[in-house]
Amino acid sequence: MLSVIIPAYNEQENIANTATVISGILDAEEIDFEMIFADDGSKDESWAEICRLNGENPRVRGLRFSRNFGKEGAIFAGLKAAEGDCAVLIDCDLQHPPELIPQMYRMWENGAEVVEARKSSRGRESLFYKLFAKGFYKLMKSSSGINLDGASDFKLLDRKAVDALNEMPERMTFFRALSGWVGFRTEHIEFDVKPRNAGKTKWNYKKLFVFGINSVTSFTNFPMHIITLIGVVFGIFAVVMGIQTLVNYFSGNARDGFTTVILLLLILGACLMIGVGIIGFYLSKIYEEIKRRPRYIISEYTKRTRRKE
Ligand code: UDP
Ligand code: MG
Repeated sequence: MLSVIIPAYNEQENIANTATVISGILDAEEIDFEMIFADDGSKDESWAEICRLNGENPRVRGLRFSRNFGKEGAIFAGLKAAEGDCAVLIDCDLQHPPELIPQMYRMWENGAEVVEARKSSRGRESLFYKLFAKGFYKLMKSSSGINLDGASDFKLLDRKAVDALNEMPERMTFFRALSGWVGFRTEHIEFDVKPRNAGKTKWNYKKLFVFGINSVTSFTNFPMHIITLIGVVFGIFAVVMGIQTLVNYFSGNARDGFTTVILLLLILGACLMIGVGIIGFYLSKIYEEIKRRPRYIISEYTKRTRRKE
């Protein structure tokens, strides 16, 4: 059986349609499936929609968070609740083409354990957004070696990969990269991002920025090493300057100008503050992890949803 996991946050206009489209496609291909909606604390009628569908269609299940915990939480809650031999993650707004699910499923039947769908085009996004995403993926690639170019959350995972992800103890996750990190036989497939079916995107720049910082710091310690690098560069600089100063002093050429002193103070001050800031990111992550708070809190389940903690 295939578990289709759909994170949904304020998607009342999309849920029924998405369920119909996906069931239509999978029924036509005769693929046995269950559909799990993870309602990420929606404030609209999403949950009522999910419950209604659950009553109409035995394959539809759902769970609801006590508040909005973010898409990552919804993905992981869905993976926990999934009962299938493999699971596919797909957005509720049909930006990930569900027509590809059968193809991904066949790849799985033919031995693939993880099927990642990559965006061949990024759809309609602002220039700033594109640059942001590009810069972020570059940083991830050069520092942690994980290639996220075109990566999306649209993936099919074998039960083995699902179990591996379910066992991860960490709180701050970055699903897109973690599914590559767990390994397994991975295959790729390309897709074009379509415009959103209905409703608006749930992201804004602040959310994206926090998401970016969290993802980088949860995958690589490279930013921390930048501080050391800057320190080494300044060390060399300091030796040269020191020698020059001493030479000037002993040859009686010592100036009483403050320019160099002021510049050095400014530069060093900035470097130190950036350094402390970067350490702060990691420290705050350690703090978050060590609190061992759950990633999400489930307030309700629909009938037939697997409850597993
Ligand atoms: N989503 C979620 N929790 C959030 C934000 C988004 O579960 O806090 C879900 C949303 O319902 C959708 C998917 O994540 O199914 C992708 O969100 P969206 O379409 O807003 O992102 P975009 O496609 O613009 O990147
Ligand atoms: Mg979307």
